[in-house]
Amino acid sequence: MSSILGTYARKNISFKEGKGTFLYTENGDKYLDWVAGIATNILGHCHPHVVRAIQDQSKKLIHVSNAFIIKEAESLAKRLTDNTFADKVFFCNSGAESVEGSIKIVRKYFHKIGKPEKNRIISFSGAFHGRTLAALFLANNKSHTEGFGPKVDGFDQVAFADHEGLKKAINKNTAAIIAEPLQGEGGVKILPDYCLKGLREICDKNRILLVLDCVQTSFRTGTLLGFEYSDISPDICCVAKGFGNGFPIGAILLTNEVSKGMSQGSHGSTFGNNLLACAAAHAVLDIVLAKGFFEEVKTKGEYFDKELKKLKSSFPKIIEEVRGINFIKGLKLKVDNNNFMSKLMERKLLVVKASENCIRLFPSLLSTTEELDMGLEIVKKVCEEYRD
Ligand SMILES: *Cc1c(COP(=O)(O)O)cnc(C)c1O
Repeated sequence: MSSILGTYARKNISFKEGKGTFLYTENGDKYLDWVAGIATNILGHCHPHVVRAIQDQSKKLIHVSNAFIIKEAESLAKRLTDNTFADKVFFCNSGAESVEGSIKIVRKYFHKIGKPEKNRIISFSGAFHGRTLAALFLANNKSHTEGFGPKVDGFDQVAFADHEGLKKAINKNTAAIIAEPLQGEGGVKILPDYCLKGLREICDKNRILLVLDCVQTSFRTGTLLGFEYSDISPDICCVAKGFGNGFPIGAILLTNEVSKGMSQGSHGSTFGNNLLACAAAHAVLDIVLAKGFFEEVKTKGEYFDKELKKLKSSFPKIIEEVRGINFIKGLKLKVDNNNFMSKLMERKLLVVKASENCIRLFPSLLSTTEELDMGLEIVKKVCEEYRD
């Protein structure tokens, strides 16, 4: 009997080592890992540059209070603002914290500009924003909120990508709209291009804020932040998961305008700006900001997509749809996704479940074509098993 609170349905397997896109069990079994810590290990397991950065920093200093200047965090924030829409950054430790902080920033902004009645945020159905109370009721997934009432107030919801519904839902109390550029948990559903652009227009027209939750999509879509393939930008962007390549770190990126309300003492996080987290994130940026990095991700991403679509046309009774962008891919299945996942695991490929009977595929962004082929071959073999 485990002493850990039983909130997870764990597979009966554990790993002792990871290298690149592979995981190894105690007795040396090798698994191709397309779970990647749920979209966190974007550069594969134990990437040497990230390992070295954490080791080196851990010998010097691990944590200091935010009562002092933390140069490594200053330079990390500067790198983010130099390379994105953002003017300011707040560092935290997880995706949910980044969403919670964003909710606070939205409310405080309208308070600051003398419109405190604007305090409600609209989300899309199927959203996932993390497991803290406000994030739960923001996303409004009944299976996640059940039993956790009373409801946290201040949130409204419209159907996924429903702009007519959205226009109707906006009223004098609306402060912001929050959306994932691509719903990961919701079934690897890309917000259509009209929708991302339309969201920006709707927000501008109504003088409300646009928050993009890019916790899962960043890096994997083939750009630094998960929305940057579109030509819009949000007022606030949430980042976490891949940012530390497995080391916990989250960030809220925002514009100068929106940062107005956040004065000294308005928000905090004891572990935010932690030196090991900053070292890991710096190491990730060293790699992903290098010239040509994302071009290669896109080239491999296109190959991956093309090969997955070939599988779909070979097995139309098993694969209904290929979803996602570059290295955040999904397959909507016609056969039971749990059963399909078990069969993949028997053949040593690990993947993640998603809504709408999907599986999610998160290969390392550094996967070679051979490694992608290896996974594709396993998916193919499992499809053939169903046909037999
Ligand atoms: C995973 C996720 C979160 C929550 O992140 P945690 O680090 O688990 O708190 C929030 N939003 C999105 C889109 C996510 O995928």
